[in-house]
Amino acid sequence: MDKVDVIVVGAGVIGLAVAAELTKQKPQASVVVMDKEQQFGWHTSSRNSEVVHGGMYYPTDSLKARLCVEGRPLLYEFCEKYAIPHQRIGKLIIAREESEIPSIETIARQGEINGVTNLKELDKNDVMKLEPHIKAVAAIHSPSTGIIDSHKLMAKFEQIVESGAENCIVYRNEVTAVERNSGTGEYEVTFKGPDGCEDRLACRYLINCAGLWGDNIGAWLGLNPEQAGWKIYWVKGEYFSISASKSKLLNHLVYPPPLKALKGLGIHVTKSLDGRARLGPSAFYVNDINYDVNPDHGDEFFTAAHSYLPFITREDIAADMAGVRPKIQSPTDPVKDFVIRHEVDNGLPGFINLVGMESPGLTSCISIARMIVGWVEL
Ligand SMILES: Cc1cc2nc3c(=O)[nH]c(=O)nc-3n(C[C@H](O)[C@H](O)[C@H](O)COP(=O)(O)OP(=O)(O)OC[C@H]3O[C@@H](n4cnc5c(N)ncnc54)[C@H](O)[C@@H]3O)c2cc1C
Repeated sequence: MDKVDVIVVGAGVIGLAVAAELTKQKPQASVVVMDKEQQFGWHTSSRNSEVVHGGMYYPTDSLKARLCVEGRPLLYEFCEKYAIPHQRIGKLIIAREESEIPSIETIARQGEINGVTNLKELDKNDVMKLEPHIKAVAAIHSPSTGIIDSHKLMAKFEQIVESGAENCIVYRNEVTAVERNSGTGEYEVTFKGPDGCEDRLACRYLINCAGLWGDNIGAWLGLNPEQAGWKIYWVKGEYFSISASKSKLLNHLVYPPPLKALKGLGIHVTKSLDGRARLGPSAFYVNDINYDVNPDHGDEFFTAAHSYLPFITREDIAADMAGVRPKIQSPTDPVKDFVIRHEVDNGLPGFINLVGMESPGLTSCISIARMIVGWVEL
């Protein structure tokens, strides 16, 4: 069987960031990235809000808080170095009425605990100066929250990976089984190519960045996702676009206070680099992966958004796109953190397991990559 140093399963933004970081830090290593789809970022990495998050919401000392706050400046630095389009557009977390002020103040305090040092509390007059058309009595301003072209980011990671002499990225190759050879300690990966034929490849390090299907790999290696607390639940988020004429009235990302247990951040406004504004994403559990948007959900979006965007009409919003979160939080669970583990304690040295890589996974992709590469001894 052929053998390489590292196999990364999944060419989303995290798998590619990890492989790019390996290429930079360990140029002598051979790295293969495998993805079942025809191109990088086919799933969650190209179906998200493309927001570079500040890091305010996540619990103290969580990986989400740490990796987001560390990852944001690393991502901006990378964008500047490689001319990846991005913009520090800034975000307002608003209180629509007095009763919501304590909840946004709690977010600001949590942000400070997490190391977000430049948040500003705004009163109604300050908000009106920044966003004259919205309805808000107060807000928290996060000036370093931004937006990014995630497609160009992944294309750059892909280019860096392919610059490695021993590396390759193979699309349309689905990993269907994995075993650990107890004699050699290597992982033997079975994959199915575009012709439907199976082949095998061995590696010393196996890095699981399989996103929505991220609980399969560990299960194939004998771990129990339910007992380990990282069974994946799919939580869909739909977006509705705001008409161009009304998009122009918004200058920032605008978020109402988040939903309970961070199931989602509430129907908020994000903007794309070309100036279009979108509402969403919503959050509901699903049993299959499809990216259709149900136009009937428009009424809910309108009602939620009209509470702070009084200038929009129902006709201003239209079904746009959807993404699915790989949550490890069941409908009754409290908030859960990213799972990023080198599974040595479970008798699997060399198996690095990433599960539940929902938001802020895009923002944190480089800090995650650096953390993982620190565990790879080649
Ligand atoms: C609606 C929504 C909005 C979001 N907004 C933001 C945001 O604004 N900012 C932010 O920081 N984060 C955001 N996120 C989170 C962010 O998008 C994810 O954390 C990130 O994209 C995850 O990347 P990934 O590489 O882990 O997963 P993916 O992009 O899903 O990549 C996993 C890859 O693995 C491949 N794969 C799976 N199984 C196999 C197999 N058996 N064999 C071969 N290949 C396989 C898949 O084809 C896929 O390409 C959002 C997520 C959602 C859903």
